[in-house]
Amino acid sequence: MEKFKLPDRYKSGEYNVWIEFIGLAMEYKPVNLGQGFPDYNPPSRFSQYLSEVANKSGLYNQYTRGFGHIRLVNALSKLYSSLVGHSINPTSEVLVTVGAYEALYCAIQSHLEPGDEAIIIEPFFDCYEPMVRSVGGIPRFISLKNTKINASISHSSDWKLDPEELKLLFNSKTKLIIINTPHNPLGKVFDLEELTMIADLCKKHNVLCISDEVYEWLVYEPSKHIRMASLPNMWERTITIGSAGKTFSMTGWKLGWAYGPENIMRNLQVLHQIAIYTCATPVQEAVAKGFEHEINNLNTPESYFQGISKELKPKLNFTAQILANNGFKPVIPDGGYFMIADWTNYEKKIDISSEIDKYKDFKFVKWLVKNFKLQGIPFSVFFSEQNKDWASDYLRFCFFKKDETLKQFEEIATKFSNTISQKSPSNKL
Ligand code: PMP
Ligand code: GLN
Repeated sequence: MEKFKLPDRYKSGEYNVWIEFIGLAMEYKPVNLGQGFPDYNPPSRFSQYLSEVANKSGLYNQYTRGFGHIRLVNALSKLYSSLVGHSINPTSEVLVTVGAYEALYCAIQSHLEPGDEAIIIEPFFDCYEPMVRSVGGIPRFISLKNTKINASISHSSDWKLDPEELKLLFNSKTKLIIINTPHNPLGKVFDLEELTMIADLCKKHNVLCISDEVYEWLVYEPSKHIRMASLPNMWERTITIGSAGKTFSMTGWKLGWAYGPENIMRNLQVLHQIAIYTCATPVQEAVAKGFEHEINNLNTPESYFQGISKELKPKLNFTAQILANNGFKPVIPDGGYFMIADWTNYEKKIDISSEIDKYKDFKFVKWLVKNFKLQGIPFSVFFSEQNKDWASDYLRFCFFKKDETLKQFEEIATKFSNTISQKSPSNKL
C-alpha cells in the first residue's frame, strides 16, 4: 500500500475546506453564507446564450481550439486591450482555462522550479499555498495587518501591508508574487500607491506578478479597480487571471482565463495542453456572447458589469447591519462579495468544546451550523499555519444571496444573540 500513497509533494493540498464545508451544508441544510456563489440567477440572456448554442447546428458541441475558442479569445482581447492599455494578441497572449483555478495552477506551476520562492499576501485564497508547495516552491507569507483592530466597525482598507516587511521578502530566489484585488476574503481593493509599491519591487528584483482579479467588476464606489498589468512596465511581468463564474455570476460554468505577454503565456499553454487541452465549447461560445453584449453596452444601463455592484451594495449594507446589531464586529469590504466579522464577543459565552477541531473558528462555524443552521467559513482557512490562531477571531460570510435568504440570516442572527445573551457563560445549549 505504501507504494500507492499520495506523493509527499501533494500533502499541503490533502485537506480542502470547500470539500468539508459543502459536505456540512449538504448534511445540515443551513442558511448558507459559506462558499461564495449567488443563490439566484443573473439576467436570463446569459443562460439563453448557452441553450441557443447547445442546440445550434454547426460544430458547437465538438472540440474547439485548445488555448481558447476563437470568438472568446477575440472578445477577451478586445475588452482587456482597452482596459490595460496594451494591444493583446488574442491567440498568443490569452489562455482560456477551467475556471480561474486552472489559470492559477498553470501560472504558478509553469514558473516555479523546486526551491523558488513565491510571495503570498495573507489572508489569501486557500489554493495558492498548495499550488506553490506541490511543485516544490516555497511560499513566503506576509500579512495584511488590521490597523483598526479594536473598532466595532472597520473597513477592508484598514488592512494594510508593511512596505518594509515586503521589501525584506524579495531576494534572489523570489520568482513570483501573487496578489488578489478585489480581495477574497477581505474585500480589500488595493489602491494605486499599494500596487505601485508592489510593482516597483517586482521590477527591481525581476519578479513575476500573478494578479488574481476574479472580482474585478465587484467594486463599491468610491473604490476603483486598478489592473496591475496597466501600471508602467508591468505588462511584461504580469499574468492577470479572471473568471466567467465571477464575472457573470454563474460559478458553475467554471470557465476562466489568463492574459499576459506571449513568452510567459507560452509556459501556461504548455501546462494547459498537458493537463486539460481544451475547455467546453458551448460554454466558451456563450461566455463570448456575454462579453460581446457587455462590450457593446459598457456605460449603459444594460451593462451587467456596471450594474452588479449597485445590486450588491444594499445586500452588503444589510449584512453589515445584521452583524453589528447582533454582537459581531464586521469589516466593511470595498469589493467582492464577502464580509469578515470578529465573533469573539461570544467566545466566553458559548461552549463549543463538542467540536474537535484545532482552531476555534472551525469549532464555532460547525457549532453554529448544527445549533442555529447558519453557515459561514472560518477565517483561519485563508492563513498560513503561523497566523491561524489570531485569524480564528473572525468568520467570513458571503452576501451575494437573495434578499429572502438574507432575511433568514437576520432571523437566525437575532435568535442567536438573544439566546446567548440570556444564558450564563459556558452554558450548554
Ligand atoms: N480566485 C479567487 C480569489 C476566488 O475567490 C476564486 C473562487 N471562485 C477563484 C480564484 C477560482 O475561481 P473559479 O471558480 O473561476 O475557478
Ligand atoms: N471562491 C469561492 C469562495 O471563496 C469558491 C471557493 C471554491 O469553490 N473553491 O467561497
